[in-house]
Amino acid sequence: MSSENKKIPLIECKIKTHTLRKSQRDFISASKKGTYILIIFVSRNVEITVGKLGKKFLSRGYYTYTGSALGEGATSLPERLGRHLKRTKTKHWHIDYLLGNRAAQIKEIIVIPQDIKLECKVNQSIRNSLKAEIPIPKFGASDCTDGCGSHLLFIQNTNEHEVSAHSITETLIPICRDLGT
Ligand SMILES: [Zn+2]
Repeated sequence: MSSENKKIPLIECKIKTHTLRKSQRDFISASKKGTYILIIFVSRNVEITVGKLGKKFLSRGYYTYTGSALGEGATSLPERLGRHLKRTKTKHWHIDYLLGNRAAQIKEIIVIPQDIKLECKVNQSIRNSLKAEIPIPKFGASDCTDGCGSHLLFIQNTNEHEVSAHSITETLIPICRDLGT
């Protein structure tokens, strides 16, 4: 973490191997609760079955998935992120079906370590700031009370900028910092 980020302890995890480094794990453990953004790369066009939503098509490219873990034990932040990072698991949430596919990989995670519900605000800010699209209506939005439409968003390349995990993170970190204060 750079010194300018110290005051508001936002974290940006660089995921290289689907395993969090110890320092990242320690930080998340210390946070316990928070809102998180998974930056996911889907390496080819895929058709996936998303539970009751059925068969859905996803284009190759970058996606964000925003959620929060504000509970204790299994619903705490470390447990939730640990679950997302595990490839093999009983599929329960919509996101489990996506992350269970070999073409999908979590590239980075941004965490806002605050115990208030921010996920819809964060999700809508991503949609506005990155002109993101809803790839699958209702995805991850069963508990959404704020009309997001989906908590999975597709980030398209535009003429102005080529999308990468880095460029998404660069755009979102200041927004998350503002929302978290
Ligand atoms: Zn929402």
